[in-house]
Amino acid sequence: MAVPFFRPSIGESEIEAAMAVLRSGWLTTGPKCQEFERDFATFLGGGVEAVAVNSATAGLHLAAEACGLGPGDEVLAPTLTFTATAEAFRYVGAEPVLVDVEPSSLTIDLVDAERKLTPRSKAIAPVHFGGWPCDMEAIISFARRHDLKIVEDAAHALPAHRDGRMIGSWDTDACVFSFYANKTITTGEGGMLVTRNPEIAHRARVMRTHGFNRDSFDRFTRVGANWSYDIVAAGFKYNMTDLAAAIGIVQLQRAHEFQRRRQAVAESYLRDLAGLPCDLPPRAPGDGLHSWHLFPIRVHPDARCGRDDLIEALARAGVGSSVHYRPLHQMSYWRERLSPNSAFPVADRYFDGAVTLPLFPDMRATEIEEVVSVIHKALG
Ligand SMILES: *Cc1c(COP(=O)(O)O)cnc(C)c1O
Repeated sequence: MAVPFFRPSIGESEIEAAMAVLRSGWLTTGPKCQEFERDFATFLGGGVEAVAVNSATAGLHLAAEACGLGPGDEVLAPTLTFTATAEAFRYVGAEPVLVDVEPSSLTIDLVDAERKLTPRSKAIAPVHFGGWPCDMEAIISFARRHDLKIVEDAAHALPAHRDGRMIGSWDTDACVFSFYANKTITTGEGGMLVTRNPEIAHRARVMRTHGFNRDSFDRFTRVGANWSYDIVAAGFKYNMTDLAAAIGIVQLQRAHEFQRRRQAVAESYLRDLAGLPCDLPPRAPGDGLHSWHLFPIRVHPDARCGRDDLIEALARAGVGSSVHYRPLHQMSYWRERLSPNSAFPVADRYFDGAVTLPLFPDMRATEIEEVVSVIHKALG
């Protein structure tokens, strides 16, 4: 039986919501975006403001810009992430400084981050890897101690919480979610920047749409609004469409249900793969919530079958898998920018055995069994 790596969960309600927008005569940023932003802020709590954008990459760029980062500034970022985390800071001319990760959670290692501080360090960009919520208290106190801005990459982390607070509602400068097709909720393409800082929210809104001053923004969001507007900066074109927002509103209502179903799949894997020669991902600490966007395992070097062979075996059985990620410091562009003597032993060791297993809300029990059985045959 073939098992895809991912299958999106789009229901009739999402289809109807999209159709209603198509019939409404208003396709781009408008009332649905405003509604999605309000719903999203309420969902996270903590008095955040939400700014809808057309991708998380755009949201990270807006966050970097609104934080005032630029040439000469360094941003501490984990090496084990998607390139967008680091790339967005290059857009404003800042320099990502790659940091190793912790062996269990695979999130940014603050001990290595401390080693990589320089007088030019201006920000830190933690990634809630796979949906495991980072230790935000530790990250915030590290950032305060060293006078760093915090831009969270929460592309994997809806919904996740830790120490009683949703990821996205912590006191950081910005936190960015992704609604790319395979993320925990989707609008096809899309993202949300959230912040508790009204100045950052304001700047992100202005720069999201060509640098329109706020007063004239409703020219874009209201039929018959005044034709007159002013431009206050050279902004970008990062606004979300109402078509996407209408889908997002419905997906957000299902976010906790998706998380419960993802967690049930993860619990099956954790139970049925225990004892094999591979590391399994950790649960969220305490009473925290893991979004379980990814289920990354690490095949031990002394296992009967190596990582590449396991991916082969899965593929032969028709099971999709992936690798998250080849660390950035191994990629040509980022390797050339590394400072001398940079070492990432934990990320390298993880990558050598890394395989990400299929995990999605509508995964059937028989599909989970199939994945488990192929892995047992290969590693057991
Ligand atoms: C998907 C992803 C992004 C980018 O999201 P887009 O919405 O596709 O721009 C950024 N960071 C991480 C860790 C991701 O997985």
